[in-house]
Amino acid sequence: MVWHKITWSRRVVQVLSFLFLFYGATLLNLKPQEIKWYSLDGKNQKMAELLYANPTWTQPFQTFLPGRSCRFAGTTGTFRGCLMYFLSDTLTWRPPWKVILPSLALLLGLMVLLARFWCGWLCPIGFLSEMLNEARRFTGLARIKFPAWWLATLKAAGYALTAALLFSAWAISWSFVAWSVKKPLYLATCQICPSKLITPLLTGFPVMINLQFPGASTALLVTLFVLLVMFTLLYFSSAVMKRSWCKLCPGGVILSFFNRGSFLTKEKDALRCTKCAICADACPMETLAVYEEKSRVIVDHTQCIQCYRCVDLCPEKKCLTVKFLGLPIFKS
Ligand code: SF4
Ligand code: SF4
Repeated sequence: MVWHKITWSRRVVQVLSFLFLFYGATLLNLKPQEIKWYSLDGKNQKMAELLYANPTWTQPFQTFLPGRSCRFAGTTGTFRGCLMYFLSDTLTWRPPWKVILPSLALLLGLMVLLARFWCGWLCPIGFLSEMLNEARRFTGLARIKFPAWWLATLKAAGYALTAALLFSAWAISWSFVAWSVKKPLYLATCQICPSKLITPLLTGFPVMINLQFPGASTALLVTLFVLLVMFTLLYFSSAVMKRSWCKLCPGGVILSFFNRGSFLTKEKDALRCTKCAICADACPMETLAVYEEKSRVIVDHTQCIQCYRCVDLCPEKKCLTVKFLGLPIFKS
């Protein structure tokens, strides 16, 4: 097995992040708390009663992270939710500034600091997706390669989806919109996110997705069956496309705006590049940006999840360099 130091370091970080975000509260014995975020007005009381029916599912740290710290991790999870959950709830409930300011400041700080580093190193869904791609490679299932225009279309679809989801979260707050319209639109981001299905099943909280079972053994069997079906589908989808959800993920779309100007930069010395295309083949987001760059030093395109596989695998010494605040931390 070839030793790629960045890739292996990243795997260790991904495993730790997965354990912390999914099971941190249990592992560290952190107690869930109930915190009243903001007062609900009479008009929305019916909705509030339904949505906050069981407050014991609040996580120990009542704040949000840019990556997938899923709200559906039940009492085993560590944080209240992810960036999209925060934005959706804020647009829907419109709490006072003083209530959202601490979370907003933390989110903005982390986004500026690390941008899509969250996707590449910390997101549990991205990690699971990469593991299934590794399983595909290990089992010899060939990958289908799509033309660049297809990936560009997906990127545009990701922007459209993000805008539609944020708009729907805001539209729910309009008092003239009927309850029957509001209800299915609530947290629309979560309804389409794979994390909402995967997280409750992996953390032993199928009840979070409205699954009720007559006994523990039935619950276990159904959970294992659903996980098997889902991971089989994801396994085959990785043959069609690596990190398929990440190419559409609304959280990733918002973080992508912070790639340019992030404290972490990826630089290319084009004179050292031999156009071997190893970086293009290694990229989990299937971008050609590093491979194609000829003139700019900083390669900070929006699709990059800052995994640095390109840097790890590039055979040319000092052709690619990762810097934090201008200081080199990894070199090819
Ligand atoms: S361009 Fe490089 S760092 Fe960015 S996602 Fe692709 S392989 Fe990872
Ligand atoms: S792997 Fe390195 S040398 Fe090869 S094309 Fe990419 S940047 Fe150039």
